[in-house]
Amino acid sequence: MAIPQDFVDDLLEKVDIVDIIEEFVPLKKGGANYLACCPFHQEKTPSFTVSPAKQFFHCFGCGEHGTAVGFLMKYANLSFVEAVENLANRIGVSVPHTGRQVSAEERQAKQQRRLNLQEIMSECEAFYRRKLNAFVSAQEYVKNRGLDAQTIDKYGIGYAPDNYQSLQEIFDDYPNENLITAGMVIENEGRFYDRFRHRIMFPIRDGQGKTIAFGGRILDKKGDAKYLNSPETPLFNKGSCLYGLYEARSAIRQEQKVLVVEGYMDVTALSQYGIGYAVAALGTAATAEHIKLLFRETSRVYFCFDGDNAGRKAAWRALENALPQLADDKSIAFLFLPPEHDPDSFVREYGADYFSGCLKKDSIALSDYWLDELVKQVGDINSDEKKSQIIRLAKQHLPQMSDKARSLKFLMTKKLAEKIAMEVADLDYLIGQDIAPKKKSYKKAVLPKSAYRPKISTTAQKMVRWLLMNPQWAKYVRLPEYWILPEEYAVLQNIATLINTLKLNNMAQILERLRGSEYETVLHHSLLAVEHGEDWSNPTEDDERAFQDGMRKLMDDIRNTQIKELSEVSQYRALSKAEQELLTHLLMGR
Ligand SMILES: [Zn+2]
Repeated sequence: MAIPQDFVDDLLEKVDIVDIIEEFVPLKKGGANYLACCPFHQEKTPSFTVSPAKQFFHCFGCGEHGTAVGFLMKYANLSFVEAVENLANRIGVSVPHTGRQVSAEERQAKQQRRLNLQEIMSECEAFYRRKLNAFVSAQEYVKNRGLDAQTIDKYGIGYAPDNYQSLQEIFDDYPNENLITAGMVIENEGRFYDRFRHRIMFPIRDGQGKTIAFGGRILDKKGDAKYLNSPETPLFNKGSCLYGLYEARSAIRQEQKVLVVEGYMDVTALSQYGIGYAVAALGTAATAEHIKLLFRETSRVYFCFDGDNAGRKAAWRALENALPQLADDKSIAFLFLPPEHDPDSFVREYGADYFSGCLKKDSIALSDYWLDELVKQVGDINSDEKKSQIIRLAKQHLPQMSDKARSLKFLMTKKLAEKIAMEVADLDYLIGQDIAPKKKSYKKAVLPKSAYRPKISTTAQKMVRWLLMNPQWAKYVRLPEYWILPEEYAVLQNIATLINTLKLNNMAQILERLRGSEYETVLHHSLLAVEHGEDWSNPTEDDERAFQDGMRKLMDDIRNTQIKELSEVSQYRALSKAEQELLTHLLMGR
């Protein structure tokens, strides 16, 4: 059962992170903040900092960071719900789980709202499907991509016309509020227009087969993002949703396996060629939540990646996300395609039988892939130095595996021990070390820690941190919605929106709002890169001006990149009307 977000906001305003951490770790006042030796790594001089103003902790030594909720989860090994309950107990309130203390009317109103949104989505879907039949260019496109009528029907594929307000055709009261909430219409400077234009539309469905979002593939425009998904809405949460899962369900049961690929085109092409058990994560690496979902359907999960560098990187991220979900009765394997192929082109060239044959004989079990990749990362394992490096890497992974994967964990440890010619017991000892001593009655968490590499942070990362620490600066963040934003800029925009609409006033609230969102990784990396000397206490006017300057610089960067791209496009073809408009906008703003 979910906990209402505004309850968490309130809670974080009432409790004080200093009290909570102090209960476990003795804190010393140092300026505006509190200091301690870090409970998450071993150190002699304190680099663990707690900021009462920001309600946030950060260790300059190991990079560990978070809110009061995050601290309890990490330090005391509590789940999110347990941590919130723990905090609520301290101030004597009980946690309202949605579904319980909500009044019947509220529940009904909420239900009605969902129904309204669902209706909008299904009307849009029907509209886009009609449009696919009406536009020759769209039909030609799907034909060229080799999709047949049956596949188009199965996945409800449609077409959003190249028009700013085509949804007006079916909604008389365009732009109504529900269209905006559902993410179908966006507003910019008082103008309203369709989010999806000139795109092949792929409905994204929930477990019951209801359309809750769309993914759109651009037909030909060079200046626009190739793929565009619906934003997070009351119906749609990207991190817990997989494209094609509803359609694939019976095939998954029958074949007793599921295949995770990168895009909707891969899913639909595979299905057409007889591999109906494929699904795709939506523009992100598979999250832990995705893997949990998949293990509910079957115990065998295959990931298929392109053989290029990007594919390898995505695979490694999937592996890291999967570790806590592993169990001895479940298996995960990876298939890497030749560099020139993606699943779509591969299945077209070789057919379904060959493809499933490859899954069987060429895929690499997670445990083997893990070890191979560790060795690759270190380079060689002939010196003691290299061996220590590999142990350090393994230390980030093995402790994340739960008791449910005890045998697998043992076997992985054993294999690694053999590889570096070491006794299993010694390796086990080394990997188990470094975990802080137990405190009170709480069971100490085994720390899932990503590598902390001190690095120079990008301007965007710095801006993200500054905004988190100084919510009052949200007024300076104005990134027009029609711009195509890279992830780090998009998170900036998102944080500003949260602050503006929900009036959040500390960092902890913002971070808890974004827990589990697609921006978690970007946020994590931005915070890891906190530099010494970045002050956690109150900013000066100079700091504020620096933020404004930084914002201007970011805007210029994005604007110039887009102008450059559009100008390049215009060298070899005429710009569309939309592109010309965008270019004019961009040039005017310069
Ligand atoms: Zn630390």
